[in-house]
Amino acid sequence: MGATTFPRVGGHPAFDLVDTVHWRLDDTRAIDTLPDVEAVLDWCAEIDVIADPDALRALASAAPATATAEHAAITALREAVYEAVFEESPDAVALIAREHIDALSRSSLQRDGYRWRWHPPADLTGPRAAIALLAHDLLTSDLRAARQCGDDACGWVYLDTSPRHNRIWCTAAGCGNRNRVKRHHARSRV
Ligand SMILES: [Zn+2]
Repeated sequence: MGATTFPRVGGHPAFDLVDTVHWRLDDTRAIDTLPDVEAVLDWCAEIDVIADPDALRALASAAPATATAEHAAITALREAVYEAVFEESPDAVALIAREHIDALSRSSLQRDGYRWRWHPPADLTGPRAAIALLAHDLLTSDLRAARQCGDDACGWVYLDTSPRHNRIWCTAAGCGNRNRVKRHHARSRV
């Protein structure tokens, strides 16, 4: 398990996934915190979307080509969530639709307490299936609250569930504070 703690400001796991890219709006600073399938499995374990991350880690090291292909497909899904919600890209929506249908065809509906829940396959395609289910869930929900952080470079996205729907920043302590300081300095130079 990596030492990384992934951001959880999205208000929906599919937005938390988008937020694994830091400084998305500045090409010179952008950092992808999911550079390989191991990082994806860490993320899945932290978000609690797959049942047995250790078993998948073993499968990934035994089948590196499959792991690399799954990583590429998951990265494409992540970018599709961003492009579907914020750019209304038809290609992105089509990709999520395809992955969702594919995920359902490989998943099973199992009893989970008082409800039934889709369980992704236990093989290396499981994380992509779990993520496709999340992406579909987000895309088919009410997206009026979908926002992107007001910072010029940050690019983190979230559902604004604040009572007055006036959340501007991903985090008040991070981007909010930094931008307030910046504005203060800009004013005091006048
Ligand atoms: Zn931000």
